Amino acid sequence: MIADKMVNFVKNSSAIRAMFEEGKIMAEKYGAENVYDFSLGNPNVPAPAEVKDAIIDILDNEDPVVVHGYMNNSGYEDVRAAIAGSLNRKFGTAFREENILMTVGAAGGMNVIFKTLLNPGDEVMVFAPYFGEYRSYAANYDGVLVEVSPDTETFQPNLEEFRGKITRRTKAVIVNSPNNPTGVVYSEDTIHKLADILREKQKEFGTEIYLISDEPYRELAYDGVQVPYLTKYYENTIVGYSYSKSLSLPGERIGYLVIPDEVADSRDVIAAANVANRILGYVNAPSLMQKVVARCLDAEVDVPAYNKNREALYGGLKKLGFQCIKPEGAFYLFVKSPVADEKVFCDAAKKHHILIVPGSSFACPGYVRIAYCVSYETIMNSMPGFEALAKEFL
Ligand code: PLP
Repeated sequence: MIADKMVNFVKNSSAIRAMFEEGKIMAEKYGAENVYDFSLGNPNVPAPAEVKDAIIDILDNEDPVVVHGYMNNSGYEDVRAAIAGSLNRKFGTAFREENILMTVGAAGGMNVIFKTLLNPGDEVMVFAPYFGEYRSYAANYDGVLVEVSPDTETFQPNLEEFRGKITRRTKAVIVNSPNNPTGVVYSEDTIHKLADILREKQKEFGTEIYLISDEPYRELAYDGVQVPYLTKYYENTIVGYSYSKSLSLPGERIGYLVIPDEVADSRDVIAAANVANRILGYVNAPSLMQKVVARCLDAEVDVPAYNKNREALYGGLKKLGFQCIKPEGAFYLFVKSPVADEKVFCDAAKKHHILIVPGSSFACPGYVRIAYCVSYETIMNSMPGFEALAKEFL
């Protein structure tokens, strides 16, 4: 009885989520400490103390009718102004409150912008490997996802193939940096070249192509690597941000879109996104959390804890002979599977109670993703299992 379209969504429903559920069952069976669940990007580092302080202070001191009430569908004006000001200080931009739309996480933001922009059959380009949910977000609005194959040397976008695949129907291009699943940060050089290609193709076809920068991992970058702010490189850029990872608040569902004035038809896009947020049923982003994040603009999670995990996992696996590039951001390691069919490797890992995700979930078979947003002990205790896998496969 369910809708035809839903049948496919259910069938392709995230393998990652399925593994997360399996991990919980395994933890009950073998004891949580004996299961090494690297499947989900669920932060293990707690939200910073400022978050709790803000919640308590808001509840103690602000009018509950306002705190829990409806507001403009785009969010509280003062919250949006505070976020715009913070971005301007950090990146030298000139955003105003009107350019910010508070969303139900990055996922909500992506759905709002696709509902705003896509006509059926419009093409949305993605660079493999990519976060598999993009497929569903585009399909929700009958958009067609067009994949650019991975450059497995660097995991920077394959720009030549990209140029060749842009058509008159290309409405949006998604970039995600720091990247899930590779941890790669797209370099400034890459971004300049990508922007040039987009401008060239807009001119050739007389169209507008929106660059959607999905950046929930912006704050998780290591060794001082710079993550370019894309609105400064290409006029038609819309940013989707989330506090799920940067403040460890994934369950609270809070983020925002930045729709700059420079974007083509910006007034219409801003107005339509406001309505899209409402009619998708989000109505508005969670009100208490809007107020919380506005008070935590400079708060940080314990990024050094993730960095410690990164070093331990990357160093440990390299020593065992596994091949992977060192991630510069996010909390994922993308490791070459020692067998062509990486699902065989994931199944073998499971025997050692190690849960990792096949690269095919990210349109990049032959690799596996290991999410290191777990305790340091989990990483260290998983090493004998990885060692056994190395002996078996390498
Ligand atoms: N985009 C990417 C690349 C992600 O990895 C995730 C979550 O893992 C999301 C979007 C969704 O994030 P949110 O929890 O903010 O909806």
